[in-house]
Amino acid sequence: MEMSQSPQDGQDERAPDLPTLAEVLGIRDQQLITILEGMSDGFCVLDRGWRYIYLNQRIEEITGRKRATLIGKIHWEVFPDAINSIFYKKFHEAMEQQVPVTFEAFYAPSDKWYVIQVSPSPGGLAIFARNVTDQKRAEVQMLYQAQIAQSISDALVVTDMQYVIRSWNRAAEELYGWKAEEVLGKNAADIVPGVYQTDSRSIFQHEITTRGMWKGEVLQSHKDGTARYILASVSIVKDQDGNVLGMVAANRDISERKRREEENKRLLQQLQIERAQLEAVLQQMPSGVIIAEALSGKLILENKQVEEIWRQPMPEVASISDYTKYQGFHPDGRAYKAEEWPLARSILYGEIVHAEEIVYVRGDKTRGTMQVSSAPIRDEQGNILIGVVIFTDITKQKEAEQRKDEFISTASHELRTPLTTVKATTQLLKRTAIKRNLPEIALSLTKMEGQINLLTRLIAELLDVSKIQAGQIDYLEEPIEIDGFVHEVVETFQLIAPSHRIIVSGSTQQQISGDRGRLEQVLVNLLNNAVKYSPHAQQVDIILSSDDEEHAIIRVRDYGNGIAREDQSRIFERFYRASNPYSKTIAGLGMGLYIASEIVKRHAGQINVESKVGEGSTFSVMLPSA
Ligand code: ADP
Repeated sequence: MEMSQSPQDGQDERAPDLPTLAEVLGIRDQQLITILEGMSDGFCVLDRGWRYIYLNQRIEEITGRKRATLIGKIHWEVFPDAINSIFYKKFHEAMEQQVPVTFEAFYAPSDKWYVIQVSPSPGGLAIFARNVTDQKRAEVQMLYQAQIAQSISDALVVTDMQYVIRSWNRAAEELYGWKAEEVLGKNAADIVPGVYQTDSRSIFQHEITTRGMWKGEVLQSHKDGTARYILASVSIVKDQDGNVLGMVAANRDISERKRREEENKRLLQQLQIERAQLEAVLQQMPSGVIIAEALSGKLILENKQVEEIWRQPMPEVASISDYTKYQGFHPDGRAYKAEEWPLARSILYGEIVHAEEIVYVRGDKTRGTMQVSSAPIRDEQGNILIGVVIFTDITKQKEAEQRKDEFISTASHELRTPLTTVKATTQLLKRTAIKRNLPEIALSLTKMEGQINLLTRLIAELLDVSKIQAGQIDYLEEPIEIDGFVHEVVETFQLIAPSHRIIVSGSTQQQISGDRGRLEQVLVNLLNNAVKYSPHAQQVDIILSSDDEEHAIIRVRDYGNGIAREDQSRIFERFYRASNPYSKTIAGLGMGLYIASEIVKRHAGQINVESKVGEGSTFSVMLPSA
């Protein structure tokens, strides 16, 4: 009997014109209805007119409607939102084509996923709905995680507790060179053997078991055998119940970073060594050294000699304007302005200052002289980075030099007076000897006179040098017609130097204004040297010319020993003599060219030399015309 009184069968609420469950499904068995009612799946039956014939308790829960409000009602009227949904489409498909349909659908009102199974029969539809929300979520989660694992840039390696590899993402393939299919199921210790760089294997195991995670650096092998520096982050994976499933390692290749770190460390060490060496050199140097920053001029380094030379700790200096804290004077007595100090000039203008002499006031208020050199240090682009100044206290040398100058000056003065007397007496004696007809004595006295003249000239030169030093030579300003002047001087000189023929060629056709006596001194000196330093030659040339700018040019050319290149720039210095042994055999004090160059300079002219050893020398004097 299909008419049951049991409240579970739902037949009691059925409207009288509805077909019975038995009519739709052919179910007669009361026991079956009991089973349907107790099922965890939702189950309902619709007749051909979409009316609810039967629904179990689960459907009540899913739809949130009481059985009484649904039985006999048309499904699409109760749930108008379902029209045009997947339910509508699939139910119709089953009904019209009389085929069973299974589909998966999300049912928004209950916020759950269901697998719906629709079984048609001529009387209507039987519908099963299984809640698959959990599986669905897990599935989505898994998909999601898989995607993350693949897209993550760290190598993700999942193993069980025996290190058997369970998962291996794309980044792991790249990092280690192994494809996932090559390594899954294999032991990680065999595939990517590693050496712990931080901690050790036992600490790793201890950390994993106690804290569930470990982070550190490992050196691991790539498939090709090369080693990679890996930053590994390993944690334990547990299931919902807290059972340990395995480990997941997120590994990152830090080889490049490591290499850079090592390189930096090496460079730093090198830098420290170089700096220490530089410090040592700086501290050992007898000179004071200061390094200042460009463009501020702030002092950044100084050695201990700085304080010794200044006899005071260096005052704080943050900028070039602070350089006024140092007191120094130019040769003319003017005080150095801040930006005039060599260091400031190097920093500001890139000037290289060589051996500038500065009178300075020390911490104890005494004055001294320092010799200062400075230079800028530039980067590859040529920008000035720092300025370096190096200086020495030359006060003592200066004083000694001054004493020497004074001595030369006094000595030459003192020598001159008796020599004048000796000379006058010799001349008197000579005249007497001639008068008394004592030719041998007269000859000796003539020779003596020659030597006295030589001495007189030497003393005169010494005096000149002293005067030049003291800036005490006065120059006349008289018009001199150069060509005639040169011929006159040569004529006289030829008489006292018969060993060489002096040949004058060319002409300057210039008239200058100057001191005839002093210029004669220049020319005689050059001729003297030309003869003196070419003992095996017979000729000296004088070539006269002028240039576009109306300079008179006098060249004195000899065919003697010549002058080595390294000596050429220095022979015009006071007391300088070429160092070759040959030169030493020829008498001289190294004053002639010094005096000559001073005289030429005072005439606003230039003197220089061209020479080749063994071929002779040419000295040129260039004088501006009046
Ligand atoms: P002195 O001749 O008295 O040594 P100078 O000042 O006249 O001094 O010359 C300086 C140095 O220059 C000489 O010692 C010599 O070595 C070199 N010198 C000058 N003139 C010549 C020359 N014509 N040929 C070779 N060397 C020369």
